Order: sequence, then structure tokens, then C-alpha cells
Amino acid sequence: MRKNIVAGNWKMNTVLEEGVELASQINDLLKEKKANCEVVICVPFTHLVSVNGVIDAPIKLGAENCSEHEKGAYTGEVSAAMVKSTGASHVILGHSERRQYFGENNEQLLAKTKLALANNLTPIFCVGEVLEERENGSYNDVVKGQVEALFSLSADDFSKIVIAYEPVWAIGTGKTATAEQAQDMHAHIRSVIAEKYGKDLAENTSILYGGSCKPGNAKELFAKPDVDGGLIGGAALQADSFMGIIAAF
Ligand code: PGA
Repeated sequence: MRKNIVAGNWKMNTVLEEGVELASQINDLLKEKKANCEVVICVPFTHLVSVNGVIDAPIKLGAENCSEHEKGAYTGEVSAAMVKSTGASHVILGHSERRQYFGENNEQLLAKTKLALANNLTPIFCVGEVLEERENGSYNDVVKGQVEALFSLSADDFSKIVIAYEPVWAIGTGKTATAEQAQDMHAHIRSVIAEKYGKDLAENTSILYGGSCKPGNAKELFAKPDVDGGLIGGAALQADSFMGIIAAF
């Protein structure tokens, strides 16, 4: 059966010392109180090795991106193999900030996903509509298209992916999707996956919600049958609030 997961996305926050301190605090709290879900922290590239060094509770480590290229003359890029070599097991791909600000398209995201999988990293693949698409009613089609961008993958490969539904209008805005809106979209995503890969694979795919998820609303969101956890931005930057969300399971 699919896993429940709470994953933190630190984005471009914390310098190394602060990041290591935050990871240590989360680590200590999780040793005191065991989580009822898988916990992942996705941190800046520069922090991966050091954060890995201070984790001894059951916490998985992830990066926030990786290159679409395998290796070579791509100055400034970080490959999936490099991410893997730090001890990380996960990588966020296709976050709306990467799509919006860095122009990442479906083709590039498919290339990144393939490289992540080839390096035994679990992609946390983000999808989600912008406000205009929510308002003009095209959101189901938009998200379907984003998921379908991965449909050239084999069933075996697709089964290793975690999907994160993050409505762009809810990210960092304090405006959360209602639990019903999240449930409807998660069920839609699951049916899109089922059409291509079958019901069993769809039922076993973890689909996380992201966008202003906080300790105060996590329980209601996670109680929905198709919401298998969260991808947490702002509230993952404080150990207490991150733990409050984990405790919703
Ligand atoms: P937020 O970000 O929780 O700060 O809204 C979520 C995300 O972008 O992953």
C-alpha cells in the first residue's frame, strides 16, 4: 500500500549553520516522538552532506532539484548522481517555482525524472495549476497534462514516483486549498494514473498536497482518502511547526 509522507522543502532558505541546526532539532524531536509517516527533508545542495551527517532518526534526505544532464560541461549544474552520492534518497522535481522562474518544461522534467530514477532517487514530482487556470476551470486538464508528461516511463519506473499536488495560488500565500479541493484533485490525478498504468499502480502512488499546509490544517487535509501527506515549504523551516504537521498522522 502507498505510504504517508511529510516532506519539507526548504527552498533557498538557511545558510549552512542554520540548516544543520534545523535538521538537528527535527532529528532530536523525531527521536523523542516517532513519526507515523515517512519524513523527508529536502534541503539546498550545499547542505546535503552536512545535514546527512547529523541525522540518525528515521529521516530521509532530499535535494530540491537536479540537472537534466547526466554529467560533463554544464557549469553550475548538479547531477542526479552527485545528489545520490551525498546520501540523499529523494529529489523534488518540477516545483512550480522551477517551472515559472526557470522555464522548466515537460521535456526537461522527463529527462530529470529519468536521471533521478536511474540513480535510485525517488522523485517528488510537483504538479499544480496557477490561479487563472483555477478560475477559468481548466485546472483538471492542466494537471492531467503535467502528469501525462511522465507517461513514456515504464510502469515499474512510474511506480517509484511520489506526486505532489501544489496549486500555485496556494504556495506561500497563506491561502490553502480546501480539503475538498485537494481531495478532488488527488482523486483526479489517481484516475489519470489508473487510465494509463492501471488501478493497482494508481492506488499505490503516494500523492502529497502542498501549499500553505500548516499544523492547523494538516489534519483535515491528511484525513482525506486520496491525500497521502504534504510537501511543506514555510512551515518546514521551524522544527516545531514541521513536527506539528507530522503529528497530524
Ligand atoms: P508553502 O510551500 O508550504 O510555503 O506554501 C509549499 C511548496 O512550495 O512546496
